[in-house]
Amino acid sequence: MIEGGGPDRRSQLVANLALVRERIAAVCRRVGRDPRELTLVAVTKTFPASDLAHLAALDIRDVGENREQEARSKFEASGGLDLRWHFVGQLQTNKAPRVCRYFDVVHSVDRLELVRALDAAAGQARRHLSVFVQVSLQQRPGRGGADPAAVGELADAVGAAGNLSLSGVMAVAPPDEPPGLAFDRLARIAAQLQSVHPGASAISAGMSADFELAIAHGATHIRLGTALLGRR
Ligand SMILES: *Cc1c(COP(=O)(O)O)cnc(C)c1O
Repeated sequence: MIEGGGPDRRSQLVANLALVRERIAAVCRRVGRDPRELTLVAVTKTFPASDLAHLAALDIRDVGENREQEARSKFEASGGLDLRWHFVGQLQTNKAPRVCRYFDVVHSVDRLELVRALDAAAGQARRHLSVFVQVSLQQRPGRGGADPAAVGELADAVGAAGNLSLSGVMAVAPPDEPPGLAFDRLARIAAQLQSVHPGASAISAGMSADFELAIAHGATHIRLGTALLGRR
């Protein structure tokens, strides 16, 4: 049983979620998409495990974390909750075995070494992971994400891995460019990927500051921290 936050926190999350849902509905109406095509991943990093219980009670079952250690304590505290765990942070290869124990989806696969480590660790743990290839949309390679030219090779490696399945591509909009332009590039990369891997139709893009633009450019998974949970 998780305690904490109390009724005020719950009503705050209810209000935030209602607003987010309205904004999603509005952009979907505008661009002719169905909100049911979207998976809302609540990025709970820095927030307490009690928030996960509130979210689950509101039927938000996809939660995102970017640090394995912090995630693990929340995973352990949230034992009875039926949640799907998404790893969204930069991932060191040596953390793959821990991540494979309870995460269901990894959004940040950006190098072959990590594909191999996750596949081996998932096999050992007798688990199966869904994987997004993270693409860097920066002109200069920054923190995390594969060069667009390397996406095909990474996707092939994920596709060939027995314990991984390829969901699609993930990206974070770069700070030095209008996000719409970056999401447009991502959509092209996703279409190219899908021509080779027809099942890899997911696009994980859009955070609190830019999720409407991401939806307009085809995102299927939006990752919301601040808009849903408040300031960190
Ligand atoms: C923190 C984080 C988010 C959520 O960010 P907000 O701006 O708070 O919505 C989404 N994706 C990744 C990869 C993150 O690290």
